[in-house]
Amino acid sequence: MDNKDLVFLPIRCAKTKNEFYLRYDRAYDGVWNLTRAEKTLPSDVSVAKNLSSVTLDIRGARLGPQYKCPDCGSISYVRCGQCQKLTCYDGSGKFTCAYCGNSGEVSGYIDTLEGEATSGQ
Ligand SMILES: [Zn+2]
Ligand SMILES: [Zn+2]
Repeated sequence: MDNKDLVFLPIRCAKTKNEFYLRYDRAYDGVWNLTRAEKTLPSDVSVAKNLSSVTLDIRGARLGPQYKCPDCGSISYVRCGQCQKLTCYDGSGKFTCAYCGNSGEVSGYIDTLEGEATSGQ
């Protein structure tokens, strides 16, 4: 496995606002797996700083049993409709973006998120 089968996406905890990284590994069958959360990055990986530049199609992605938010334990996340950044999500139906402060109802779940910017409201 080489580095292009490994993608890190920045995300913040909704509760603590601390930033961490989602680690996706591409499995042998081509499906992305959200394997774990990393507090810091290994030095030899490329980071997707802007979601709209990532060609990561996670519609069929699997959630690994080891993944959870390192700060609050949530196993899901949402993408902000305004700034397109990711915030961990506790399943309550509402969210507040940990980057820009936008808040509202959650209109989709992890399986509808893609690595391209859309106006999904
Ligand atoms: Zn969290
Ligand atoms: Zn936002």
